[in-house]
Amino acid sequence: MFEALVAQPPDALLGLIKAYNSDSRAKKVDLGVGVYRDADGNTPVLKAVKAAETILLETQDSKKYLGPEGDIGFTTRLEPIVFGARHRLAGRLAALQTPGGTGALRLGAELLHAARPGTKVHLGAPTWPNHAPIFRAAGLAIETHPFADLATQAVDFDGVRAGLARAAPGDVVLLHGCCHNPTGIDFSRTQWEEIAATLAARKLVPFIDLAYQGLGDGLEEDAWATRLVLDAVDEALVAYSCDKNFGLYRDRVGALTVIARDAREAATTATNLAALARVAWSMPPDHGAAAVRIVLERPDLVAMWRAELDVMRGRINANRAALADADPGLAFIRDQRGLFSNLAMTKAQSQALSGRHAIYCTGSGRINVAGMQPGDAGAIVAALRAEGC
Ligand code: PMP
Repeated sequence: MFEALVAQPPDALLGLIKAYNSDSRAKKVDLGVGVYRDADGNTPVLKAVKAAETILLETQDSKKYLGPEGDIGFTTRLEPIVFGARHRLAGRLAALQTPGGTGALRLGAELLHAARPGTKVHLGAPTWPNHAPIFRAAGLAIETHPFADLATQAVDFDGVRAGLARAAPGDVVLLHGCCHNPTGIDFSRTQWEEIAATLAARKLVPFIDLAYQGLGDGLEEDAWATRLVLDAVDEALVAYSCDKNFGLYRDRVGALTVIARDAREAATTATNLAALARVAWSMPPDHGAAAVRIVLERPDLVAMWRAELDVMRGRINANRAALADADPGLAFIRDQRGLFSNLAMTKAQSQALSGRHAIYCTGSGRINVAGMQPGDAGAIVAALRAEGC
């Protein structure tokens, strides 16, 4: 049976983690893996989450099955955070809890395939390397257009316009709601306005990937673009992850929300989402989403979570400023948002950074700015200069 299988390359980030861990140099910098780190290099459990987990431990009296939609309290409490306290989408939403943002993207892709087999998804390049494989695995077709130019560190808006102009009505367009991975480059407000108008005029369906809300400019600010687009179009999908903004990575906490044209289509969509989840994972893991629900149910824990999010965002943006201050050539990093920036470098240069300077980033030049510790900016800038990056 398994003889015909061809060995698959290991996840590149796992190799990077291994190489970093086995590096015995006293001073090393991990800008590789995409998790938030505090000034000591740790990724702690948030205090608000710990408090919610304590409540969960004390009050949960059963672990009997929930349904394929997961914890409905979780998805309901998430709604005002993502769509706004006074959103006007009520009745048109079909939402369910998923195993992380990855599960939300995959389930959304399965739904699109069920609705219209072979639907085409337009991706800007570069994007999160998992996007195309997830959509392809569900049977969808991929078309890419340029999104940003790493040489200029700017959006290639002509490339985006051309990509959207090529798209046919009913095609899907993947958009990063904020904190673009891997570039940290987000569309300007005017660019978002043009994109929203184009999507609406050309009947393109946005699939918004919102995995870093609150880690860019703030909870409301980071949802601005998503809300603008949803105001403009009739139909959309939103894949949401709580894994970064609640620090729940391994607990796999996400949600997929489909915005349908009307209540009838939303209800039918909800039954399809449940059926697709049933044959994929039956129901999502409960613990992390239950902890998020408890945080969102309690004003004291919401305040605690928001304060912790402010600290994370403040540290990320302070690290950005430190790099920009250390080298005028890196000024663009200050204006980018989220965990990542993507420096223009070759694979050989990234290997030289780790080999000669013990500074680890991905082979494509993506750096996690939250991996920096106080005082690292100078060493990073010196190493980048030494390697001609
Ligand atoms: N979308 C983007 C853009 C991401 O960066 C990530 C995580 N790296 C995800 C989705 C998936 O997040 P999760 O870990 O919740 O599956």
